[in-house]
Parts: sequence; C-alpha cells; structure tokens
Amino acid sequence: MNSPVFAAQPYSGIASFGRCPIVSDPQGYDISIVGVPYDGSVSYRSGTRFGPRAIREQSLLLWGYNNAQHIAPFKSLNVADLGDIDVVPPDIVATHHEIERAASRIIGSGSKLISLGGDHSISLPLLRAHAKKYGPLAVVHFDAHPDTWDSEYPGQRFSHGTPFRRAIEESLIDTSAYFQIGIRGPTNGPEDYLDAKRLGARMVTFDEFRRVGIGAILNEVTSCIGHKPTYVTLDIDAVDPAFAPGTGTPEVGGFSSYEMLQLVRGLRGTNLVGFDLVEVSPPFDSANITAILAANLVFEFLSLVALRKTSP
Ligand code: MN
Ligand code: MN
Repeated sequence: MNSPVFAAQPYSGIASFGRCPIVSDPQGYDISIVGVPYDGSVSYRSGTRFGPRAIREQSLLLWGYNNAQHIAPFKSLNVADLGDIDVVPPDIVATHHEIERAASRIIGSGSKLISLGGDHSISLPLLRAHAKKYGPLAVVHFDAHPDTWDSEYPGQRFSHGTPFRRAIEESLIDTSAYFQIGIRGPTNGPEDYLDAKRLGARMVTFDEFRRVGIGAILNEVTSCIGHKPTYVTLDIDAVDPAFAPGTGTPEVGGFSSYEMLQLVRGLRGTNLVGFDLVEVSPPFDSANITAILAANLVFEFLSLVALRKTSP
C-alpha cells in the first residue's frame, strides 16, 4: 500500500483515467469520464470493447501539466471516473438506450461528459443525451469515414457506419455547423461522400487538409461554430494507421499524431459541451501507441475545458 511519504508510481494502483477518483455520483464534478465497452456493430475487425480499459491504462503516464496549452487540467477541474456504462452485447438498441440513460443522468447533474469507446455507434445515444440538454449541436467529427450510410446491414438502422445519418434525421445536429475532418480512403462509390454532403456535412477530406493547411481549416471551423454548444467526436481512425494501428477499419494516409493533437488544441475558445473518443481496438495495437495517443487526446480536450473555466 502507498505510504503518504511516497508518491504513487505511474505503474502502481488501479487505473482510473488520469488517476481521478472513481465515483458513482457525478454531482459536483466538472467532468465525468465513462467507458462504453461496446463493439457489437463494427464492420470489420472487432476489439474496441477493450478500448476504455487500454486508454485508462495508458493515461497513467499523463503528468499533470500541459505545456502546449499552459494549464494543469486535473488541478483546474474536478474530474471523476464513473467507470463503464453497462452494455448488452447482442442488442444494440438496448445498449443505446442504456448509454442515453446513463449519459443523461451525468449531463443532468451539471457535469460535462467524456466517453471512451467502444465503436462509433455509441455517438448516436450520446448525441441524443446532449441534444436533450442543449438542442441541436454543432459537431466536429474527426474520422476517415463519413459514417452517414443509411444502412450497413440489410434492415439494420444502427451500426458504426450510420450514426451521423440517424443523428441528422433526429435533428440532433445543427447541420449548418457540422464538420467531418480527415475523410479519405476507398468507398463503395462517389455517392458515399455525396450523401454526407447532401445531408449537410461540411466535409474536409484529408487531401483538402493537406492542400489548404491546418490554419485555414481551424479558422473555418472555429468561426463557423462560434459559441454554439459543440460536441466533438473523434474516431481514432482519422489518424494514420502508422500512428494508430489499433483500430478496426484502418485507412492509410491520415493525420500524424502531432496533427491530431494540434487539431484538438485548435478548438480553444469554443463552447465545448461533450467529447467522445472511439474505435480504439487494443488487440490490433502495437506497443500501446494507439491507446497512448487516445489518452493524450483526452488530456488535450480536458485542457480546453479547463482553459474555458479559468478564462471564459
Ligand atoms: Mn472511421
Ligand atoms: Mn467513425
């Protein structure tokens, strides 16, 4: 056991996110972190059910101070780890219902919610919970894929390839402020991208990002979302599989780790109300590099919220 004389070592103890207290009641916390270990709707290789645990493990090496954003988020914010939301592996509808219920309870308490996936289908119930509180949300969606298919499997409306079409149909997203960033890779045909644009998404392909540069993209995003309540959803496959191999549907030619960090940092000053980080699949990871990146991306998001709290 730890003696009060010695500081805990990064490799000792129980792995809550960033060593935050593990609690069941979000009341009084600025931020609640939950895991959503559901991977029942993936279209290729599975394993994201192990994502939350791997991200928590790798979060133990986060030291407290963010030198890029000049803030110590765990000092400026009260952050709690609320453990994992219950999932029902063979029943996506029941799982989504439980995610929405648990998320609504946390958001209703006044805490902001950070969710660790899990596959990208979980963003739909998370958006439902947030939209109940804030109305239709500005959304910044980092991904290699638009995830706006109508149906990935015959007769099935819910999967990790459809959440943003469903969210638009349910008016959870303010489509005048919906960005998809990092889109690339082969598709079934040109209609996959045309569909997303027709639904209202401002699609920033990886090619465009490289052509116009990060400054131009961030200017457009931040001036468009302004102070609207904004939800950020980050599919780790937005990052190049050379930097983030631990994911289920990898697409070559994406962001470097550094570019992904800079894109999140670039949302500084906006009105961020929620965040999910999905599709980390530890069985396909190598030396934990994907989970390490994921933990650091959560740290960057926490830093943004901390900055907003200390200098609104
Ligand atoms: Mn994806
Ligand atoms: Mn996705």
